[in-house]
Amino acid sequence: MQFKDIIGHVAVKERLINTVRENRVSHAQLFLGPEGSGSLALALAYAQFINCLDKQESDSCGVCTSCRKYARIIHPDLHFSYPFFAKHKDDTAADYISDWRNCFLNNPYLDLECWRNQLNAENKQANINIAEAHHIIKKLSLKAYEAEYKVLIMWLPEFLDSQGNALLKLIEEPPAKTLFLLVAENPDKLLSTIISRTQLVKVSRPGNDEVAAYLMEVGHVQEQQARQAAFISEGNVQRALNLLNEEHSDHFELLVQWLRYCVTDSGLSLIDFSEDILVKMGRENQKSFILYAISMMRQVLLCKAGAEALMRLSGAEKGFAEKFAGLYTEKQLDNAVEVFEKAHYHIERNANGKILFLDVSLQLVLNFKYATFRREADSTYL
Ligand SMILES: [Zn+2]
Repeated sequence: MQFKDIIGHVAVKERLINTVRENRVSHAQLFLGPEGSGSLALALAYAQFINCLDKQESDSCGVCTSCRKYARIIHPDLHFSYPFFAKHKDDTAADYISDWRNCFLNNPYLDLECWRNQLNAENKQANINIAEAHHIIKKLSLKAYEAEYKVLIMWLPEFLDSQGNALLKLIEEPPAKTLFLLVAENPDKLLSTIISRTQLVKVSRPGNDEVAAYLMEVGHVQEQQARQAAFISEGNVQRALNLLNEEHSDHFELLVQWLRYCVTDSGLSLIDFSEDILVKMGRENQKSFILYAISMMRQVLLCKAGAEALMRLSGAEKGFAEKFAGLYTEKQLDNAVEVFEKAHYHIERNANGKILFLDVSLQLVLNFKYATFRREADSTYL
């Protein structure tokens, strides 16, 4: 993995490269970035750069023996740790390494769901267990085979529970020329003892333009489709890739039609639309459609607040947002976001689609047509 293979993150890449140039590579670093942002790929590109035998101005060379082994994730001094779904209590991450290679090389922006699917783990609990913590300690106590630096990249250390403490001494005082690169998404779920022992590398989500360009390249889709997926996924590349794989009708057209029925309180048409279109979409498609509705309402709110410069829409979508912002109050738009967010929450929990979409439609009618708003108990749709 070279830096050039990762979209965006120009400033982070530069900062990482400078730590090597200025000889101040910290031995324990925490790459903290949201799901699908590319933080895991960045950590790997950084490790590859550090060990490259012919470093270039702003990237590893990609062709030396070290880079070639790194590219296939088979370098003997590169170790990975990640949550897995243990079949036996002695299982370690190494037991799943070939799956891991396939999964990562196929999609460097992977999320836990993607990894779970790779392992056919269904609803099993993911974990980094005590056997894995001990395995890491043992592996890193050995001398490096051929690289200058041994590297351990741990993906999602959130899944280390209290056994993580077994690693603390190692993180604090690692053997010479040993690097710990932890790649996390949620600082609230990390052991505070680990946070305090690592140097933070903050990674944000790539921009929509960068994501769209990536989707056109790897997903082989047209610009319009790529832009729409980038917009809905808000910089989560994994999510954007999922969207491309879904067969979905045009979210924008559907949303406009739905809202049109709601704001005019067209009873029967609204019921038919809910039952024939929204319910029949299927759960994954419903989720992405509702996420699209949330993003769109937020864009309308930006427009309402006079922050057009921050809007990320163009063409018909922009025209719609401007018109809609002119017709309704900020309160109504806020309420709509809340209605959609609740709907998403319930769809994720397998709510009955028929009841849910009828009720959401009714709430939108009340909100937009009659400017009243009803807050729901959480159990409504179950
Ligand atoms: Zn190289």
